[in-house]
Amino acid sequence: MKRVLLKLSGEALAGDKKTGFDEATCIGVAEQVKQLVDAGIQVAIVTGGGNFWRGRTSETIDRTKADQIGMLATIMNCTYVSEIFRHVGMKTEVFTPFVCGAFTTLFSKDAAVEALEEGKVVFFAGGTGHPYFSTDTGAVLRAIEIEAEAMLVAKTIDGVYDSDPKVNPEAVKYDEISISEVIEKRLAVIDLAASILCMENQMPMLVFGLSEENSIVETMTGTFTGTKVTV
Ligand code: UDP
Repeated sequence: MKRVLLKLSGEALAGDKKTGFDEATCIGVAEQVKQLVDAGIQVAIVTGGGNFWRGRTSETIDRTKADQIGMLATIMNCTYVSEIFRHVGMKTEVFTPFVCGAFTTLFSKDAAVEALEEGKVVFFAGGTGHPYFSTDTGAVLRAIEIEAEAMLVAKTIDGVYDSDPKVNPEAVKYDEISISEVIEKRLAVIDLAASILCMENQMPMLVFGLSEENSIVETMTGTFTGTKVTV
C-alpha cells in the first residue's frame, strides 16, 4: 500500500494515564510512522479527543457546544502529536475543516494530497467540523477523500472480538470479518455512522492494538496479527 490513514484514539495517546498525553507512547508511534514514511508510504493521521473531552458526556451544556469543545480537543491532540513527529524527524502539516487562524491549514483534498506527495505526514484535526459526528466518521471521510487504500485503526485492544473481551473472558477475536457483519452485529470497531460510510465507499480497515510491539510497522510491512475488516 502506498497511502494509508492511521486512526489513533485519544485514549491511546494518553497511555496508562487515561488523560492528556503520554509522551513515550507518542514518540513510539512517531518512530514507527517514520519507518513507513522512509519506506515511501504516505501517511495521514486522525486522532480522537477522548483523552480530553467527549461531547456526549456533558449533561449540563448544549450538545453542539460540547461537541465543539471535543473538536478543539482533537486539534490540541494533532498539534501535539505533529510536534512529536517533527522532533523524530518528519515533516508534517495539520489540516482542519474550519479556519483556525495561523494554527492550522484549512482542509482541501488538493492541499492534503499535495502535502502527502511532498512526503509530509498530514494530520486531519477537528473531525468533520460538525457536531453529532465523531472522529471515526471524520477519519473514514478523509480516508475516502484522499483515496487511501485502507484505514489502519489502532486501538487499546488488539483487534475485533465477538463481544467485549474486558467483560467476557470467552470473547473470540476475528482474523477477518466483513464490514456488513460488523454493522449487523453492532461490533465496536468504529461507530455505526462511520461503519456505514466505510461500507458504502469500500474502505477496508486493519484493526490492531497500539500497545502490541511495533504494531503499526508490522501491520504495514510484516506480520499482521489484528483483524482485517473487508468490504
Ligand atoms: N466531535 C464532533 N464532530 C466530529 C468529531 C468529533 O463533534 O466530527 C467531538 C465529539 O464531541 C466527540 C469529541 O469531539 O465526543 C472527541 O472525538 P472522538 O471521536 O474521540 O469522540 P468519541 O467517539 O470518543 O466520543
